[in-house]
Amino acid sequence: MNNFTFHNPTELLFGKGMIKQLGDRVKKFGNSVLLVTGGGSVKRIGLYDEVIGILNENGIDIHEVSGVKPNPRIDKVREGVKICRENNVDLVLGVGGGSTIDTAKSIAAGVKFDGDPWEMFTMDGEPDKAIPVGAVLTLAATGTEMNGNAVISNLETNEKLAIHTPAVNPRFSILDPVYTCTVPEEHTVYGIVDIAAHVYEQYFSHTPGTPVQDRWAESILITLREESKKVLDNPEDYEARANIMLCGTMALNGLIAMGKETDWASHAIEHELSAFYDIPHGGGLAIIFPNWMKYVMDEGLDKFVQYAVRVFGVSTDDKTDREVALEGIEKTRQWFNEMGAPSRLADYNIGEEKLEIMAESAVSNKELGGYKKLTKDDVYQILKMSL
Ligand code: NAP
Ligand code: FE
Repeated sequence: MNNFTFHNPTELLFGKGMIKQLGDRVKKFGNSVLLVTGGGSVKRIGLYDEVIGILNENGIDIHEVSGVKPNPRIDKVREGVKICRENNVDLVLGVGGGSTIDTAKSIAAGVKFDGDPWEMFTMDGEPDKAIPVGAVLTLAATGTEMNGNAVISNLETNEKLAIHTPAVNPRFSILDPVYTCTVPEEHTVYGIVDIAAHVYEQYFSHTPGTPVQDRWAESILITLREESKKVLDNPEDYEARANIMLCGTMALNGLIAMGKETDWASHAIEHELSAFYDIPHGGGLAIIFPNWMKYVMDEGLDKFVQYAVRVFGVSTDDKTDREVALEGIEKTRQWFNEMGAPSRLADYNIGEEKLEIMAESAVSNKELGGYKKLTKDDVYQILKMSL
């Protein structure tokens, strides 16, 4: 295990009715809020009125940015920064899914950034200041509710890039699984795939001596498999929604990455797909991940054997390590397929046209991958396998 420092400053308020704590938490930071919401789901589920009611009761001034789209765009960040500066906003409150909360985080950092907010995503280094962020999460997927990441797209340049800074870790995040019961099946599945993908990015690592982190990761994957069946059979199953939500948070709050090298190549490849074709993040990951696994497994079969045996109960009798590893990867694809996730780029009408340019862009100015360092040609091959 490598040395590490673990510090996660987000206060998590988890469970039914926890929204009641919102007024108290917001008031800690001042009396002026920028409320950031998406395309209307928070209004449809009644959460918007609840939040406005609580903020009004507590005498909080409310400013708003609404209409944040999936694969959130930099223009909403610019809009939010302007409002915050003009009104001396004390806290940016994201209410919705990962796209909304990532926008809230980027606005909070943008307020303290000297320059156009898009430069925070393209510059060397990370922004290190932000005004406080709060979150009310309505979709289990990204882990953004308890981390310092925010991913934003620039459609003019076909780029989807991230910032990573503890400055934007939400000061508090309210997670009531009841809100996730209305997430449509398609987005529930994308969320589950995203959670699994976050685990894979950190689980497949050559860092030796991490049995605790491995078993935490495996417990998230096993729980996800079990609970995904329940939630797809009955979308209103509270316990299943709650367990998936907790999986999402624990998959990407630093816990399972303690003392480890991580990978993140598949996310980088998926970000190219989303940047060029505006496809859902979880859909892209479902297509890419099993192909990445096949492409890199020979760099360390032992971890893939462990994955197949512990997560899918694959038997090792009379099989080579390679056969066991491949069976685990096949079971991964089968699990994604059973949930109804896409399996080929063709499912999004994506052909060969832009594979080369996406591969080039995925490796430009950065090292890609940990389990296997990927060159442009490697990325091209993985994309080709995904057609
Ligand atoms: P999302 O893009 O925030 O939302 C997807 C869809 O679900 C939207 O149409 C949204 O509608 C709807 N929705 C959300 N909550 C709902 C509810 N309770 N009931 C009904 N519909 C609901 O999805 P996401 O997967 O959470 O976020 C994806 C983004 O996060 C991608 O850009 C991805 O790259 C990024 N990401 C971030 C991190 C991170 O650490 N920050 C990690 C991985 C991925 P409305 O717009 O109407 O609300
Ligand atoms: Fe992700």
